Order: sequence, then C-alpha cells, then structure tokens
Amino acid sequence: MTEPRPDAFGGKPLRCRGWRQEGLLRLLENVLTVGEDPDNLVVYAALGKAARNRPAYEAIVAALKNLSDGETMIVQSGKPIAILTTHSRAPLVLMANCNLVGRWANEEVFYDLEQRGLICWGGLTAGCWQYIGSQGVLQGTFEILARAAARLGAADLAGRFFLTAGLGGMGSAQPRAASMLGAASITVEVDGERAAKRLEAGAVHEVTDSLPRALESVRRAMSERRAWAVALVANAADVYPAIAAGALRPDVVTDQTAAHDLLYGYVPQGYSPADARRERGRDPAKLTADGVRSIGIHVQAMLEFQRLGAIVFDNGNLIRSQAIRAGVNRAFDIPVFTEAFLRPLFCEGIGPFRWIALSGYRADIRAIDDYLLAAFAHDAAVTRWIRMARDAVPFEGLPARIAWLGHGARTALGLAVNDMVRSGALRGPIAFTRDHLEAGAMAHPKIKTENMRDCSDAIADWPLLNALVNCASQADLVAIHSGGGGYAGFMTSAGVTLIADGTAAAAERLQLTLTNDTSLGVLRYADAGYEEARRAAERAGLRRLSP
Ligand code: NAD
Repeated sequence: MTEPRPDAFGGKPLRCRGWRQEGLLRLLENVLTVGEDPDNLVVYAALGKAARNRPAYEAIVAALKNLSDGETMIVQSGKPIAILTTHSRAPLVLMANCNLVGRWANEEVFYDLEQRGLICWGGLTAGCWQYIGSQGVLQGTFEILARAAARLGAADLAGRFFLTAGLGGMGSAQPRAASMLGAASITVEVDGERAAKRLEAGAVHEVTDSLPRALESVRRAMSERRAWAVALVANAADVYPAIAAGALRPDVVTDQTAAHDLLYGYVPQGYSPADARRERGRDPAKLTADGVRSIGIHVQAMLEFQRLGAIVFDNGNLIRSQAIRAGVNRAFDIPVFTEAFLRPLFCEGIGPFRWIALSGYRADIRAIDDYLLAAFAHDAAVTRWIRMARDAVPFEGLPARIAWLGHGARTALGLAVNDMVRSGALRGPIAFTRDHLEAGAMAHPKIKTENMRDCSDAIADWPLLNALVNCASQADLVAIHSGGGGYAGFMTSAGVTLIADGTAAAAERLQLTLTNDTSLGVLRYADAGYEEARRAAERAGLRRLSP
C-alpha cells in the first residue's frame, strides 16, 4: 500500500538545532492541531491550554528554534521565562504549570490570576505538549469498559447498553471504546456542533435530538448484538432521569461532561452552549449555581441507575464533588474509575504510555505496531489492543499510538524503537510520553488516589519526586502541573517527554527515564501497602529501603 502523504509536519526540514528541539516543537504544534480551540490555544477540558497567550506561544516557538543542547528553557504556566545554561544531558525544557500554594489553591484565586494573565491551566497533557487527540484516553476507556464487561460475566459488551455524556476532546473516546467492545451506546451531548464533528470523525454512528429515536436505535442494536453509537443532542441532566424512569435500562453508566468547570465547562439544564457563554460574562454566580443544581439532578439519576443494578462510575470529571455542593450526600457511593477498575494495573507500573511519529509518516507507527505484536506476543492484553487500535483508531495530527505498558516493557520498547530510528527502519525520530494519570505521577484524591490503602490520597510528594527523578534521569521535557479552574486545589501531577532520535545519548535517556519513571510508580503503590506492587518491585529488583 502506498504511504499517504504525511500530515502538515511531514517532510518539513528541521527548523531547530536538532531533533530533540524539533521534536518538542512539533509536539507543541500538534497539540493545537488536534486540540479543540486552537485559536484560543485551548487543547481540551474547556480551558486546558498549550501556552498562556499568543505572544507567549510565539516566544516559546522562537526559543525552541534557537535552543542548543546544553541549554534549558524554563516555562512558567505557559510563558517562557528564560534559557539557562545547563549541560548536554539536562532536560531541554522544564515547566511548572498552574501550581498555587495550598491555601490559595481554589477556583476564585485561579480565575483572578488567570484574568490578570499571570497563570494558565495546562490540563494534564495540554500545557506540556503531550496531547495526542482522543486516542490518548481511548485505551484507558477501553480497559475500564472491558473490566465492566468482565463484571457482567462477559468478554465484551455485545448486547449491552452503555450510557454516558460529553463528546469533547476526551469524552469522544467513550463511544469509540464502547463500540470496540460491541456495545450499543448513547452519549448525550448538549452541543450539536460537537456531535456533528464526532459523527464526521467516526466516533459515533448516528446523531439525533430525539430520545425515543436514540432508545429505539439502541434497542435494535442490542437485539442484533451489534456495536452502535448514538450521539443524543440534549442536556444530560434532562436525559438521565428520563432514561432512569423508562423501560430500557443501561448496563453501564458514566459521564464525561466537563463537570469540573462550572464557568467554562458544564452547561446547566435550560441553557444552550451559547446561553452559558453569555451568562459567564453577565452573571457567573448564577451560571455556577444553575450548574450545581443541574449536576445534582444528573448525579441523582446516576445513583438511581446504580440502585437499579447498573455498573456506574465517575469518569474523572469531579462530578461527584460538584453534586455534594448540590446536597447529593450519597454522590460518593459512585466509585471512581481508577479505584474501581485500574488500580491493579498501576501497582505494576502499567499505564497510558504513548509514542508519536515526528516524521508524520503513519508507516512508522505501523512498523512499531508490528514490532510490538512480535516482541510482546506473550502479552494478550497488549496484542489485543494493538490489533484493534491498528484497525479502528484513526490517526489525528501526528500519527501516534497509545498502549498500556508497564515497568520494563516501556524501556524495552523505547530502546528497540531508538535502534529502529538509528538503522533507518523508521523514517524519523519518535517521541515517547505518557499521561499524567500514572502510578506515581499524580496525586488527585477525588480521581487518581481516592481511597488509597494507607490513606495517603492527598500527599503530593509522589508527583514532585516523579518530576525530580525524571530530571535526574535525563528526560527531554519535565513538567509539574496542578489543577486550574474547578480542579484548582484538587491535584498535582508530573509529565515527561523523550525524543528517540536514534543516538546513543537518546538510548541512555530512554533507559534511565523510562525505567525510573515506572519504578517510582511501583514504589509508590508498594509504599502504600499494595501486595501486587510489592511483588512487582521484588520481581523488578527495585531496591526498596522501607518495609
Ligand atoms: P471538553 O470541554 O472538550 O468537552 C466536554 C463536553 O461536555 C462538551 O462537548 C460540552 O458541550 C459537553 N457538556 C457540557 N455540559 C453538558 C451537559 N449538561 N449535558 C451534555 N453535554 C454537556 O472536555 P473533555 O476534554 O472531553 O473532558 C471532559 C471531562 O473529563 C473533564 O472534566 C476532564 O477533566 C475529564 N477528563 C478525565 C480523564 C480521565 O482520565 N478519566 C482524562 C481527561 C479528562
């Protein structure tokens, strides 16, 4: 098959002094290419930005073009501050995004500083240029839904009804993952344009604004055990109670509206997206109060689905905390997806690892797929995912792949790929990165670290240590992020990026960083008392100093 023309970046000459710098520049450009609102530098999650403002973005681009090995650019909340002389093994870019001192870490202070142009929220992967489009959360969502299927006693979700909401940058992974598992799904989305965009991208099969029609499509697909994804243009706070009162009951329920942000994200009952935008400027207190009230109704219906026997979980958007503000005291009867489904994976350092073909050539990702299928033939979870992703996941922006790999596996893959770059088996260098939602890289007591065995949920030492370890291990970019908007005060996380350019220096960086990054994850869970992590640490020969 002939290779399609590489995307906008492919074939471009280097604009920087080397591939390490050029790779980071291409990643910055890519998060805007695949992001939701590039004109405003917004990548995802309503307000997650790639840079503080347009001048800051231009200054970062100019600095990357001039940056030499042995220099390190410092970025503070999306604004470049300076270039420091370091040494050739130091990171090229160090970032701290949206970190506020404890007592000041709240929505009011964040929005005030944001209005003054002093801070911006980098989300997890937006501000450190690691976002790869909706594929980034796709496998995580797939793994969650596969585990939900297992709880229903099945290998997949064929003949089952999955109900969710939100077709944004992240949320649109939900219907795609559900379809990969054979489910019939409804994703409620208040913004018709977003729904149309997802239809065009193939994430959903049908768009309607009629609940009866959506339910009929689901009923038919369930009886034929056929994957079918409906986008229902409506407000989730209207639709969830209506479905709960009806005859066709969902088997699995969640939500991924931007409920964490009541000013820029969640659209209350009775509002169009345009109404919400208008009210934000006119009466933000009213918009917030109406959002809280709607979320109360929305989560009450989720609790009702739970009572009726559905598997219900929070999909990482703080909706339960907002519902508490509405007086829904039992909101936390709904478990969060990490604790409910993914913690055993984190114990082994397994998490959302990804790689990006900086050349723009899809063939590079396919060659790595082939390598993985052969080298990881013993790992059924990895090979099942790669086979499905190869067929079902369209590339967005720079071709990329995600796979949940763990300690040791990431290092092996990174080194093998670096060899493939060196030997010319790939057309260009590959960037490696991962989500911040990783074993050791995130403290988020309402998402990632809820109900930790030793009650260490709120301790942010681990992501800070993770970033320090990655600096000491020669990563190319290291970032420390905290929450902004509605997430202010809720979380701290660390991000890391490496450029495999085929050199011996890159091999050393990959060996150290990929090994130590996952080591810290395993050690974090071992320290919290998880036996699986203690066994994983022992198997890996990690030298633990505490019992
Ligand atoms: P986004 O802002 O791109 O999209 C949110 C969507 O929800 C929008 O399309 C909006 O129109 C829709 N929406 C808002 N209110 C609605 C309502 N009442 N009814 C129906 N639709 C409504 O955000 P995103 O990037 O898709 O992220 C969604 C949420 O998921 C955020 O809170 C984000 O922080 C969280 N998140 C979770 C994970 C995870 O790992 N689980 C990862 C990333 C993001």
